[in-house]
Amino acid sequence: MVTDFKVHLVRGRFPVLPSAVNAYVVETPTEVVVIDATAAISSSQELRALAESLGKPLKAVLMTHGHPDHFTGLVTFKDLPVYASQGCIDFAHREDETKWQGGKQYLGEDFPDERSFPSQVIKDGDTLNFGGIDFTYTELGPGESDDDGMWLTEVDGIQHAFVGDTICNHTHAFFGDGHALHWIENIERLQKTLRLDAKIYVGHGDSPAHYADLEDQKAYLQLFIDTIKDLPRETPVTEEVVGKVMGRMKEFQPTEELFFLLGYELPQGIERVWKQLDEVKA
Ligand SMILES: [Zn+2]
Repeated sequence: MVTDFKVHLVRGRFPVLPSAVNAYVVETPTEVVVIDATAAISSSQELRALAESLGKPLKAVLMTHGHPDHFTGLVTFKDLPVYASQGCIDFAHREDETKWQGGKQYLGEDFPDERSFPSQVIKDGDTLNFGGIDFTYTELGPGESDDDGMWLTEVDGIQHAFVGDTICNHTHAFFGDGHALHWIENIERLQKTLRLDAKIYVGHGDSPAHYADLEDQKAYLQLFIDTIKDLPRETPVTEEVVGKVMGRMKEFQPTEELFFLLGYELPQGIERVWKQLDEVKA
């Protein structure tokens, strides 16, 4: 029995909300690792302070995906190895090029002038050991971002799965990257990999989530696909179409939580999924 294993949740600023993005400090018997880095400097400092308060060496940061709300805080962990897939690293650079100005606008001084990126490349199936506990990386591929991944560890027969934004536990989700079809496949993969009592640590929303929440996330994504399937395919995507999609999603998930994120780059996301639906048909 490993008694000295604990997952600590830190909720960081995003974009101006005080606690809308999750990151984790994972305490093993003799070492500590951080999973994802939040966005704001102040939040990532809070994350680091918590990690260091445990009195065990902080060894590394592990990344689930490369959206700015999860990697920008890496600036606070520059001295540590930061593990991510090559796809995640490339994506984080692309994201930074187009989104850093927006981040600066929202967070001002709390957004780093120079961003820091993962330094160590990890591949599907690779395992790292911290304090006697194995952390295995599963490459999920395109999903909520261009390249999503999961870190899985098992302690005393319980799976602890760090899935990033693959599950946004009953908050609204970002569809702008346009991978909703593959995202559903990623969730089906989690349903096969994880056991009913797995603890699922998510990028947004209450955490840990539970196995049943996987099906809820799938239903949310399926509703998005079914809704846009039936809407007139005019490009550029009209405001009316965007309004209808947002309305349907809000009916299904009647929360304000991250509703702005659903609308962010939504026309681009709709257009990309339309294209994929046509490719599937062809
Ligand atoms: Zn996110």
